[in-house]
Amino acid sequence: MEIITDTTILSNKSEEVDLDSGYRNVLGGLVGMFERNTLGLAAPQLGIMQRMFVALLYNKTVPSLYGFVNPRFERKGKKEVPSTEACLSIPDVTRTVLRHNYIEVNFDKCFQISDEGQWEEVEGPMQLSARDAFVFQHEYDHLEGTLLTDHTDIGNPVEWWAKQALKKRQKIKQRQKNAPKNLTKPDKVNPKKQAQLRKMEKARRKKNRMLAKRKAQLEFMEKESSA
Ligand SMILES: [Zn+2]
Repeated sequence: MEIITDTTILSNKSEEVDLDSGYRNVLGGLVGMFERNTLGLAAPQLGIMQRMFVALLYNKTVPSLYGFVNPRFERKGKKEVPSTEACLSIPDVTRTVLRHNYIEVNFDKCFQISDEGQWEEVEGPMQLSARDAFVFQHEYDHLEGTLLTDHTDIGNPVEWWAKQALKKRQKIKQRQKNAPKNLTKPDKVNPKKQAQLRKMEKARRKKNRMLAKRKAQLEFMEKESSA
């Protein structure tokens, strides 16, 4: 077995694996061909158009090789982030592409494969983030016939992050600009209410004047009687 670089073959979609078939032999072949300087290898890369791949994942613990049969996505996080990748099938190409930062996956079969060659079956679903999620998406792409070069190269990831930060700041600024300037703006003047208030004020003043007059009268009377 050898790794193929023929993109016309690699661009085909792989078929579902029949679990009653000898899929373990194919998966074993992938494990055998997997090199320690890579992160994954999919069956189509060996010219076997079946939905299987091996991937080196941390999966919350120590890095270990996992073999997937009929893998699928259960959920993809909204956030996409840059991932700089290479592919054994496309020599001398490195691309920075956008990948979902978080995914939840499931499968018909999954094995954790030790360095000593022991296979331990793993139950799904599996939550993967960051690099683990990127590796899974890259290998899954091979099953769909999608190559690294089919993705848009976003270029320098640092510039991409800087652009995102700028966009975010502009969005916040715009939101502040669009917000109502004075939240304690008085109610619209109600002419009826205004007239009523004026009437009340007039009555209050009249009452005060009358009280003052009465007080003056009383004071005068007091003076008269004491004189
Ligand atoms: Zn690849």
